Amino acid sequence: MGPTRKPLQDFPITIVFTILLGILIPGCTQKNMNQETQKTAAETSAADPLSIHQKAIAVDMHVDTAQRLLDEHVDIQQQLSDGHFDAVRAKAGGLDAQFFSIWVEPQLFGGGGARAMKRADDQIAAVRALPEQHPETWVLATSAADIRRAAGEGKIAALMGLEGGYAIDEQIDNVKRYYDLGVRYMSPAWSVSTSWAGSSGDDVGATRGLNEFGKSVVREMNRLGMMVDVSHVSDPTFWDIVQTSTAPVVATHSACRAIADVPRNLTDDMIRALAKTGGVVNVIFYPEHLEPGWSQKKKEVDAEIATMVQQASEAEPGDAVHKKMARDRVRQREYLRRLPPVKVARIVDHIDHIVKLVGVDHVGIGSDFDGVQITTADLASVADLPNLTKELLRRGYSETDIDKILGGNMLRVMEQVQR
Ligand SMILES: [Zn+2]
Repeated sequence: MGPTRKPLQDFPITIVFTILLGILIPGCTQKNMNQETQKTAAETSAADPLSIHQKAIAVDMHVDTAQRLLDEHVDIQQQLSDGHFDAVRAKAGGLDAQFFSIWVEPQLFGGGGARAMKRADDQIAAVRALPEQHPETWVLATSAADIRRAAGEGKIAALMGLEGGYAIDEQIDNVKRYYDLGVRYMSPAWSVSTSWAGSSGDDVGATRGLNEFGKSVVREMNRLGMMVDVSHVSDPTFWDIVQTSTAPVVATHSACRAIADVPRNLTDDMIRALAKTGGVVNVIFYPEHLEPGWSQKKKEVDAEIATMVQQASEAEPGDAVHKKMARDRVRQREYLRRLPPVKVARIVDHIDHIVKLVGVDHVGIGSDFDGVQITTADLASVADLPNLTKELLRRGYSETDIDKILGGNMLRVMEQVQR
């Protein structure tokens, strides 16, 4: 089902008709023209992208800013000169709710065990500190009702999702532990497979789905009301999740393999199966997952800049986390120089594709801001979010459709999962 289109093309015909009527019946022209002018003004304000954007409850399902809070001690109350996210730019971009990714890098912190758990706990503490220290800006939220309340008060709802199930340390009780700390979604694996769930990012994931423990984790998430996230999981894991989960399944930051053929993206069959659970695909804003051929070009650039990246890592005196940050800074600079720019229109191509496959009720947004080294050119930070609404309007999406895409669909899923 395609987006509903407004009959804007009727308008010039009405004007022509009014002028003709004025010539035929002198005296009525001016009045009718005034009415037309007023109507036009009303129509314009109704279709004003900014007012439509501001009215909608915008929910971004994924940013990696929690690691910046922890590793760089950034103050996101201020407008930062780097990165993609802070409270000032979030307000400017009309954002109402942000899911912060609680991401444990398994190579740096282990695929389980005390260090992985501590890394997750530290990020959770950093996110929870936002509303504690700045209640005028942030509200800690764990439900759709919390998000609606925060939006009504003009504040930003802060929510959390675990990216990769490393921190549950292969113990079922830890799912509830993280639920109790406020975590409301979890993806079983990031780019490294766990013993119980395959990842799309390594070789073992190609054949590994959920084992019995993995299925019990999904059932426990269903029981608690924690959303199951399929972003990053392998194809076999995806299918095991949709077959096991009794609640709607989400992809918090993924796109369509039919457009950009990378293992991280979803095939059309997967999108149909996910929609059948009542779930939502939240489209990522990262060029590598959006633009056909971009992934291959990035691999070539990675080879060209390998020495440069290595040198930056060696020159950084800090710990492993800071060395990774130094490598990413070089990548960020060089990708911008060497890779073709991708525009917000490409994000909407993916939204369009999902809408055509399964309708407008199963698509949302998951930027991955601060988790990627490069963004689309005209949606370079959260402040540019209205550009997405502009492009959706340009393509003929109605205000109701836009409300759903920006956050309404995810509010529905959260309500269903929490039931
Ligand atoms: Zn991710």
